[in-house]
Amino acid sequence: MKPRIYYSKPSITELEVRYATDAAANGWGEKCYEYINRFEELFKSHLGVKYAIATSSCTGAFHMGMAALGISPGDEVIIADTNWIATASPIVHLGAKPVFVDILADSWCIDPEKAEKAITPRTKAIVAVHLYGNLCDMDRLLAIGEKHNIPIIEDAAEAIGSVYHGKRAGSMGKFGAFSFHGSKTLTTGEGGMFVTDDADLYECVLTLSDHGRTRDQIKDFWPDIIGFKWKMSNIQAAIGCGQTERIDELAGRKREILAVYRERLSDLPELSMNPEPQGTVNGAWMPTVVFAPETGVTREKLQTTFAAENIDARAFFWPLSGLPMFDPVSTNTHAWSIPDRSINLPSYHDIEGHELARIINIVKQIY
Ligand SMILES: *Cc1c(COP(=O)(O)O)cnc(C)c1O
Repeated sequence: MKPRIYYSKPSITELEVRYATDAAANGWGEKCYEYINRFEELFKSHLGVKYAIATSSCTGAFHMGMAALGISPGDEVIIADTNWIATASPIVHLGAKPVFVDILADSWCIDPEKAEKAITPRTKAIVAVHLYGNLCDMDRLLAIGEKHNIPIIEDAAEAIGSVYHGKRAGSMGKFGAFSFHGSKTLTTGEGGMFVTDDADLYECVLTLSDHGRTRDQIKDFWPDIIGFKWKMSNIQAAIGCGQTERIDELAGRKREILAVYRERLSDLPELSMNPEPQGTVNGAWMPTVVFAPETGVTREKLQTTFAAENIDARAFFWPLSGLPMFDPVSTNTHAWSIPDRSINLPSYHDIEGHELARIINIVKQIY
């Protein structure tokens, strides 16, 4: 068997180890929030936003952000049918209904026209998921949000390093949420970040994130409302500080890997990859190839071929509306057809040239 090629693996250097060791040895008592505060500061300045709250996961950031927007039973939230379940489950937990709309064929992100058509008097938010680092059409989405007075919220879990006309992914909507899961470009093992420029929303999520205790509450053990406990630990935040100091290197390497794939596969006309329209930077979290329907390539063929080569290539997200807990929306043609003929290619930080060559050969062979 050839050596395994993993699809993702974090890059942890002596810097992260040093910070985490310091947090474990000294980050207690009056220092117990030091790395958390520092991580939030570093992340805010990287992103160019006013407020950030470190969380236990991106899912937790969404749960609190959506709760703070007042999303509740009977409400609807419009979301692309293509995404990880993490963004849909908080909607369900809040008693609201995710309304799944189709994606665009080229960006694999929400189709703004379809999103606008799905608006009803119950719509409380539209989620913009920047899939695999590809950017949503934020100008259109924000204009639709403004016209109908509906907040646009950004799922930027996969979009660290992505920039839309000078603005970083996650910094454009009412709020943004990031993931630092072990598979993501910047990792703390598990973890996430809630970001916003809205002072009131920030205060509300800050209160929710501390079991409903307001900042100025002076009584001990006195929650003012029912909240959540989706916090990040100081030790995780220490790793996050090291990773954020290295963010340009981490995101830069992702872009480098995507560029190698793009260049070496550019002679295959019936194959498309993560786009990078003018005026944008693709953070390239997950290089993905989509085969044209005419090629006859199937998901099974892709997965069995890569598995036989001991390469950990992953399936494109299933349409969420195709999962057993939701009603199928099979008219979402792109979301339902693209996963049948596409695959995520390995792109971890330390992947080597000969490994990329092995993967590229397999893609060509399948083609
Ligand atoms: C990883 C991911 C999430 C969830 O992140 P967690 O930190 O695991 O909660 C949400 N949305 C997208 C698009 C993701 O890739």
